[in-house]
Amino acid sequence: MIDELLQGNKRYLANEFNPNAEYYRAIADHQAPKVLWIGCSDSRVSEHQMTGSKPGTMFVHRNIANIVAFNDVNISAILEYAVVHLKVEDIIVCGHTRCGGIAAIEDGVRENYIADWLCIATGAKEAADRIAGERSLSREEKLAVLTEENVKLQIKHLRNLALIRNMHAQGERPRIHGWLYRVEDGTIDILVDGRGSQTTA
Ligand SMILES: [Zn+2]
Repeated sequence: MIDELLQGNKRYLANEFNPNAEYYRAIADHQAPKVLWIGCSDSRVSEHQMTGSKPGTMFVHRNIANIVAFNDVNISAILEYAVVHLKVEDIIVCGHTRCGGIAAIEDGVRENYIADWLCIATGAKEAADRIAGERSLSREEKLAVLTEENVKLQIKHLRNLALIRNMHAQGERPRIHGWLYRVEDGTIDILVDGRGSQTTA
């Protein structure tokens, strides 16, 4: 597999990097992404590929089940760097279908660290349990609801962080968006439209 990856780099140089050398020279000097991406670590969910974006478009944080942990120095540092230094205008929290993390939230897991991590999505599980009870949902339908509720909960966590709260007290930026990527067909659903009524820059 490792040889395949290195061969892939040669194809990347030939087909993408070298033909666009000017672009890559410019971003080598200075990165100026406009978006912070918070997504799942899942190997099928590649933010730049799914959005047809070149490297340099998004600053990226990925973890199991696209969680915004309010007690995680890692995501806090990424967030601070993105909004204070890079001055990103938009933050996208993107969940996805067939997420192993979401199934683990539903079913529970025995592994210690994974269980601790997924606790941060407990509120989404409670909301999904309630909705599933009211609507008599199948397991598949319930996982879909849980995926959506998890994105909404992580956006709530994001909005509650002092850094973001203070910025929103001053204005609308960073705008926060909730997306769902469908691994079956490659499409994106908008769960929370952060574009609001403002005109896009
Ligand atoms: Zn996932």
